[in-house]
Amino acid sequence: MSLTAEPLGVLFVAVAIGFVVLLFLLPRYGPHYTSKLLCPSCRKSFNFHWIPGASIASLVQRNYRVLKCPYCHKKATFDIAATRVRTAKPAKKKEKT
Ligand SMILES: [Zn+2]
Repeated sequence: MSLTAEPLGVLFVAVAIGFVVLLFLLPRYGPHYTSKLLCPSCRKSFNFHWIPGASIASLVQRNYRVLKCPYCHKKATFDIAATRVRTAKPAKKKEKT
């Protein structure tokens, strides 16, 4: 009976679909963050958009990214988690009177 192999095939398709969602759909439509980074060379701040766990590099490097400063174009390592600013929700101003 070769029919016993069918559940494995379904599982493979499910994993493949999950893989596609993780690789292509989440980076575009999923949550992403903005980090306010400060260049150690020229002391200028710039925003960096990133997606948590979207790329293999982010899984290996975790919270650190080697980026080129848009102003002086020097490479530096930034801790993007510590400087993270949430962009998914607009900042709500709590005004209690
Ligand atoms: Zn710079």
